Amino acid sequence: MKKIPFFDYPALFRLYQTEFVEAFQSASGRGAFIMQKDLEDFEATLAGYTGARHAIGVADGTMALLIGLRSAGIGPGDEVMVPSHTFVASAAAVHHAGATPVLIDCGEDHLMDVASAAKSITSRTRAIMPVQLNGRVANMDAICALAAERGLTIVEDSCQALGAKFRGKHAGRFGVAGAFSFYPSKTLGCFGDGGAIITDDDVIAESARTLRDHGRGKSGKVETWGYNSRLDNIQAALLNVKFRYYDQEIARRRSIARQYHERLKDIAELRLPPSPDSEPDHFDIFQNYEIEAEDRDGLKAHLQDRGIGTIIQWGGYTIHQFEKLGLGGNVPYTERMTQRYLLLPMNVSVDDEAVAYIGDTIARFYRRENA
Ligand SMILES: *Cc1c(COP(=O)(O)O)cnc(C)c1O
Repeated sequence: MKKIPFFDYPALFRLYQTEFVEAFQSASGRGAFIMQKDLEDFEATLAGYTGARHAIGVADGTMALLIGLRSAGIGPGDEVMVPSHTFVASAAAVHHAGATPVLIDCGEDHLMDVASAAKSITSRTRAIMPVQLNGRVANMDAICALAAERGLTIVEDSCQALGAKFRGKHAGRFGVAGAFSFYPSKTLGCFGDGGAIITDDDVIAESARTLRDHGRGKSGKVETWGYNSRLDNIQAALLNVKFRYYDQEIARRRSIARQYHERLKDIAELRLPPSPDSEPDHFDIFQNYEIEAEDRDGLKAHLQDRGIGTIIQWGGYTIHQFEKLGLGGNVPYTERMTQRYLLLPMNVSVDDEAVAYIGDTIARFYRRENA
């Protein structure tokens, strides 16, 4: 039996092992650990890649969101709209900024539903946090139009979408600030936690640099209560290696998605993400391949028995279902989806043969063949 893990963590190191070791030796040998040249180089590369004026490395994606929100002036008394189908970190960042997350439904694309957002605006709504989930950017024409009409700030959770575009514009660039995560299983993953903020706004950039380093301004004087939330220089050095292969890795992910689409598109019990290139406005990077499936739990067990690892994002819960956080929310599509959604293996160590085997195994499940 073939064994296809959902994610192969040791492969992250194996892929570019020699270059990683060199980068580690170089930075360590220089004693370059905190806020050194490798971090500056990484920030310059990230800014250049996305087209943003500034990129600021921080400790992780959650802190990128929190620092982005605070730098954008979001705080106590404000409501921020966040989709319910996201990692709890999106809402946690709003909470820790002192504001209140308001949960919004998603649509068939599993991204924020604009009509649900429009209905949830109150006199206290200050911001929208679209979450560019699974490596796809939401329809930002509609979200930006709503924000402009109602005077709302956009802070983007683009933690899953580095390199994804909507109408040629990079994820993270539609609002005043965008957040990225370099958690190991993210498309650009480091060897631990890491994150970054991008922005075109000089004042927000300055604030983010201050907040990530204990509130210390350029002069070294403390100007506000800050955090210890810097991206380690070693992690930046490793990310500089990975960035060289990033476009190549995205191309591979898109090829896997194309193959999944071809193999699964005629199975009526499934809803698939759009195939790459099927929609000219979208350039998706496939952080994940999230399908909806009838008898999802049966399918998951069938795949597991045949050596194929799948996961249900965030354990099968969306944020409105965490009663102890007390958020609630009127999110009917999301509610139904939690019974149906499933992630298939999607990363550069999945080869064409594995995709074929996964496709055949899913097809046999719905034909009720016991092979
Ligand atoms: C990964 C992720 C985050 C947070 O990232 P960390 O680096 O783990 O803090 C936030 N939002 C979404 C949608 C994510 O997938």
